[in-house]
Amino acid sequence: MNNNLAEIQELWNKALPIISKSVSQIFYDVFIANLEPISISDNKFILIAPYESCKNSINKSYKPIIEKAIMQFNPYIEGINIITPTDVDGFIDAPKSIIAEAEEIVEKEKPNSNTKDYYTSFEESYSFDNFVTGGSNKAAFVAAKTVAENPGVQHNPLFIYGGVGLGKTHIMHAIGNFIKANNAKKKIIYMTSENFTNDYIDSIKNNNSKDMNRQFRNKYRNLDVLMIDDIQFISGKPSTQEALFHLFNELYQAKKQIVFTSDCHPKEIDNIDERLTSRFQSGLTVDISSPDLETRIAILRKKAYNKKFDVSNNVINYIAECINTNIRELEGALSKVIFYCTLNNIKADNLDIVNNALKDDIDNISGPITMNTILKCVSDYFQVDQKDLIGKKKTKNIAEARQIAIYLISDLISIPLVSIGDFMGGRDHSTIIHARDKISGLISTNNKYANYIRDLTELINKKA
Ligand code: ADP
Ligand code: MG
Repeated sequence: MNNNLAEIQELWNKALPIISKSVSQIFYDVFIANLEPISISDNKFILIAPYESCKNSINKSYKPIIEKAIMQFNPYIEGINIITPTDVDGFIDAPKSIIAEAEEIVEKEKPNSNTKDYYTSFEESYSFDNFVTGGSNKAAFVAAKTVAENPGVQHNPLFIYGGVGLGKTHIMHAIGNFIKANNAKKKIIYMTSENFTNDYIDSIKNNNSKDMNRQFRNKYRNLDVLMIDDIQFISGKPSTQEALFHLFNELYQAKKQIVFTSDCHPKEIDNIDERLTSRFQSGLTVDISSPDLETRIAILRKKAYNKKFDVSNNVINYIAECINTNIRELEGALSKVIFYCTLNNIKADNLDIVNNALKDDIDNISGPITMNTILKCVSDYFQVDQKDLIGKKKTKNIAEARQIAIYLISDLISIPLVSIGDFMGGRDHSTIIHARDKISGLISTNNKYANYIRDLTELINKKA
């Protein structure tokens, strides 16, 4: 911790004119001028913002500009941290009118695309420790860890591909965090392929000499690790591809680690130079796929634990069951449930809460069949209330519809019986087995039941 306030203030005073050149007057007046430097801690320059929305607005788009300005005068600083009085104690946010104005300004004043906002410091929470592994991401995790432990030795380049929200960016930051923690001197750049393209275009714009390619490459050649996220966006940009190709060869020959991510396999990136496609595949190519139920449950447990919010197992299982698209959405759903509970001052301990908190999400979820879809179809088909299906009533038609719902869930979804029991109103697993076996027996002896199941299965598949 550096508490020499005069020194800190002096550094901030030097950085301010540079920052002011990169942001509009109004943004400067409303936000930047309100920041107060307070300390340097862990190589981070700490600034205090008067209110939450000021912090958010700056973090959203302008953080790299401020960081760059400060680093020019003190290369040991690795980034900035903006805090608000909330981080210190209870506080009141700015009046709504100021927040609205602030948001409008940020919207209008997104920095132009030429901003070179690549990172040499990494999102702390995106660590290997915080990354939950399962069959869907284990290979990528192990490869990334190997690379982080020994950059440039094995798996060069490492190419990780997979759909959105599955943890590719998280893994890159984890590599960065890990290497930095073990050897602060290593030079690492993380950037998106858009940053790379912009940087290359800038180098052309600002340089008339024929030597521009070399100048551009000189900037990167001292790196130990280069990570480019979402490399698929280099598609259809032949001169950027050419620049990357030469840079790649240079770094590779110098045994510098290169990591790429993409939303698809290298072979599936359109409009790209063959030579690059083959370079991408010359090390290790691993995919990340959608997590299975078990992994989704484990991820939710970890996130709930990190948020220090008590979420019961049946609620966790149910969210994991309903949200099967990607991890970003899974996290979002958990946040919504926690927010809903905090707002209403209730515990996250029953499925109605989840249904209420996620009512906009659950119905819209496409993809594999969920327990919720089955319950809804059975309820519509037999004209029995969903609440009664998971409730205690023993009326014949309700009890039978309930057993059919249980049979269909266990038949159509691979999910532990205990979770079905939780979902069906907290029944124990022997009840679930009994219902399943009873309906299964009826189907083979009674046409009426066989027809129910056939109709319902068709309906459910249409909905899913
Ligand atoms: P991508 O870059 O593939 O689109 P991200 O890396 O941005 O995905 O991940 C989306 C969110 O999900 C992030 O908040 C990330 O921390 C979280 N996440 C992804 N995979 C995992 C995992 N295996 N364990 C814990 N959190 C994860
Ligand atoms: Mg990403």
